Amino acid sequence: MLTPLPTAVPRLLDVVLDCRRYPDGDMAYAASLLDPLDASELAQLRRTTTLSHVARAPAFRCVSCNGPLLVRTDSVRSSRELGGRRARFYHARNSRAVGCLFNTEGGMTPDAINARQFEGRQEGARHEALKGGLINVLHRDAEVISVATEQPVIADRRFRRPDVLAMLASGDRIAFEVQLASPQMATIVGRAQFYADTRIALLWVMDKAQLDASLPLQGFQDIYWPQGGAVFAFDDEALAESKRAGALRLHRVTVTQVDNRLEWTSELVGLDAVQAFLGLDLPDRHPGIAADPLARALLDALARGDSRAAGAAFTLLAHSCGVVDLVWHDAQQDGFDRIVPVLVTLLTGHKAAPSGYADDAAAAILNSALEAPSLRDWSRVVAVVGNSTVEAAGRMARRSTWDKVSRNLRAIGQAPQRADALEQRWRPVLKRLFPRLPD
Ligand SMILES: [Zn+2]
Repeated sequence: MLTPLPTAVPRLLDVVLDCRRYPDGDMAYAASLLDPLDASELAQLRRTTTLSHVARAPAFRCVSCNGPLLVRTDSVRSSRELGGRRARFYHARNSRAVGCLFNTEGGMTPDAINARQFEGRQEGARHEALKGGLINVLHRDAEVISVATEQPVIADRRFRRPDVLAMLASGDRIAFEVQLASPQMATIVGRAQFYADTRIALLWVMDKAQLDASLPLQGFQDIYWPQGGAVFAFDDEALAESKRAGALRLHRVTVTQVDNRLEWTSELVGLDAVQAFLGLDLPDRHPGIAADPLARALLDALARGDSRAAGAAFTLLAHSCGVVDLVWHDAQQDGFDRIVPVLVTLLTGHKAAPSGYADDAAAAILNSALEAPSLRDWSRVVAVVGNSTVEAAGRMARRSTWDKVSRNLRAIGQAPQRADALEQRWRPVLKRLFPRLPD
């Protein structure tokens, strides 16, 4: 889906609600619904779409106005296509759709469609220039296998159009979000959550020329402090250097507080530094553990025993998964701050909190946690994580460890209230940190 074949017709409605299975509809790409259809399937879809509309149970609805959609086709002669690649969705005559931004397709050029797709976002000329420069240099970078702009990405009945979406040779995807205005907290956490859900790495990109004015703004501080004071920026210099190098060059900006001032330095770095920043390069990167900057900030702080830094990272991470009512104090009260490093150890086999244990003394670390009365009620979570990979299952199955796990599970079975409460309270955050946990 990253670089679909160009369709024969420009599609304004490139994401629609497919209501054929559920009345509320699943978000779906028009391209994946229409492009694969052969001539016969296209005719069938047009028929069922019209029939369902007449029956007042539309098969497809608009993501913007929720109005019913029908399928229209360009002629075979003009499009040189028989099947669904000459088809697009359009609004059925419907009062609700009158004001819909997506409701005037007739005669629109692709540029006009693009302009409309911003839907109220004020995309200034500078934003366009920086975005265009990024696209230009990403195309030149040998490590990048495809680049898309404003292409919809769907996750969990939401969609976003990342400014630039790049797929790397490694298979990792990076969404570059060019941010010129100080973002609201809701924007920051919404994007962090969305991209975590889609397993796409999110990279905020600032305007290097505006750093002195932008860095003190709270919205940008809310981005770079939880990233360890680091943030990336682009400008004409980075563009020129990228062109010279034939590969992406970004400014990596490091911010520090000196007395009551912000100071920053920057250096031009390549995609390898971006990958390292996003946790995409770690050879021992564990697929079961989130590696984005927020998750790493929290896990690194826990590994160092830096409670203050862990608390700061925790607040943003919790917000990024929609949890707004839990604070670091709750995490400490519940033992969340102590069980998370244990879960990391269970998955990786390595120490993830300061202690006297050797780095690879996983069994001793697990056993000591399982013996701690205050952590006993986490044992069901330990068991779930322990069953999530072959390596973790091996660690949990060691006799001394399994005896403690099963003993604790029996105790929880007799008095499950606290374990139930812990799991319910912490599930979204645990799922954020350990994305492979079952739902
Ligand atoms: Zn609409």
